[in-house]
Amino acid sequence: MVQEISGWGRVIRVAAEERVSEDLALITRDAVLTRGLGRSYGDASLPPASGLVVANSRLANRLLAFDASTGELTVEAGVSLHDINRVFLPRGWASPVSPGTQFVTVGGMVAADVHGKNHHREGSFGRHVRWLRLRLASGQIAECTPDEEAGLFWATVGGMGLTGHILEVRFAMERIPSPWIWQEVRQIASLETMLTQLREEGVRWPFTVAWVDLLARGSLFGRSVLICGRWADVSEARHPFRPVTRRRRVPVDVPEFVLNPALMRLYNAGHHRTCRGSRGVVHPETFFYPLDTLADWNRMYGKRGFIQYQCVIPASQPVSKVLEFFDLVRSLPLPVYLCVFKDFGAPGDGLISFPAPGFTVAMDLPNRPPHTQVAVDRLNEFVLSVGGRVYLAKDAHTRPEHFRAMEPRLAAFNEARRRWDPEGRLRSALSVRLMGDRP
Ligand SMILES: Cc1cc2nc3c(=O)[nH]c(=O)nc-3n(C[C@H](O)[C@H](O)[C@H](O)COP(=O)(O)OP(=O)(O)OC[C@H]3O[C@@H](n4cnc5c(N)ncnc54)[C@H](O)[C@@H]3O)c2cc1C
Repeated sequence: MVQEISGWGRVIRVAAEERVSEDLALITRDAVLTRGLGRSYGDASLPPASGLVVANSRLANRLLAFDASTGELTVEAGVSLHDINRVFLPRGWASPVSPGTQFVTVGGMVAADVHGKNHHREGSFGRHVRWLRLRLASGQIAECTPDEEAGLFWATVGGMGLTGHILEVRFAMERIPSPWIWQEVRQIASLETMLTQLREEGVRWPFTVAWVDLLARGSLFGRSVLICGRWADVSEARHPFRPVTRRRRVPVDVPEFVLNPALMRLYNAGHHRTCRGSRGVVHPETFFYPLDTLADWNRMYGKRGFIQYQCVIPASQPVSKVLEFFDLVRSLPLPVYLCVFKDFGAPGDGLISFPAPGFTVAMDLPNRPPHTQVAVDRLNEFVLSVGGRVYLAKDAHTRPEHFRAMEPRLAAFNEARRRWDPEGRLRSALSVRLMGDRP
């Protein structure tokens, strides 16, 4: 059945035949792309044109094997992080990397080589993947590991679904002392102090993140909240441990005038006040996935949706360059409602993995054409000038010339793709927009 599908930002919509089945190997046979839970914001999980078939992995969600002596878990690609957390957190195991939502599939985590609040310590998800089973464009089933068919493996990690349909994944889970998180929160008055402290605290803490208020006026612009955490010890853990199951839902597309800068400024001020400084044990879902408590929260942005712009500013740049970036943000024709800052460690090993040592900033902006394109262009010009790059899992507006200029690894990636898919069968709206694939 042909239906309209979109990424999480709901900016790009495509009419496509989306096939869903427990038998992922079957439905990927004539699909141009596989998608998971559609949590990438832009057009990465969308087929390029109407009439093409896309496979959806969400029903291929069996846990296949777990080896408690090595911590290696083998799953079908459609298993979600939510499923894994439910089963494994109470038993003392966690995913080594958690993005900001647990409603992602393991296939999507491999394809985007996702990062979490512990990137400075643990790198991105691909570092923990041990084995992949794929359907290639030729229809063949292939297996690869970091050592065998390593070319296919590292092109697939972070390869945005363009090298093959991921059917099964084996990765190493992390042993944890308890499922709870010990968290410390502190307010920070200025951007400059936030940048210094984020880096310093990364030496002590496995998880760090900063929330930044980019709507506050005058000298309050850039006030931040620094959140640090670690898995709580057994002695600190609370009992019993239960998943947070109560979730409210946004039932309709909220009219655009509701979510406006004045309202968000008030919200940010309130949020900043409540984060005055605290320490203690919190539920892992509160710590890792604060937005998940409100289902369909993307509808808050109204019918035209929103974009998330995420880039990395390399560690080689001085702090003054990061501050310059925020001066640019201040002058954009669109408000930034939400901004999150993280410290990146070692680069991702995937051929076009996003992470690179430096600061990464993710910002939510309402979609207001033609301002959206203007804003992304200006941000990209800056990112290019400092040698950074954008995160494809969030992108919908980057121009191909900007992408090519910020991605010297593209030629190697294209070569790998041609090797496994000489006819260019596998493609997405994103690969047509940025990599010159046929529609
Ligand atoms: C609230 C929120 C917070 C987030 N926080 C973070 C964060 O902190 N860090 C981070 O890295 N990301 C973050 N993300 C982005 C998200 O983790 C990635 O976009 C992830 O890829 C989404 O997984 P999915 O299953 O929804 O995949 P989809 O969005 O459906 O697809 C994403 C990409 O993966 C490919 N893909 C999916 N499944 C397969 C498969 N089986 N075989 C081959 N290719 C496949 C698709 O083709 C597409 O290119 C966040 C997203 C949201 C909505």
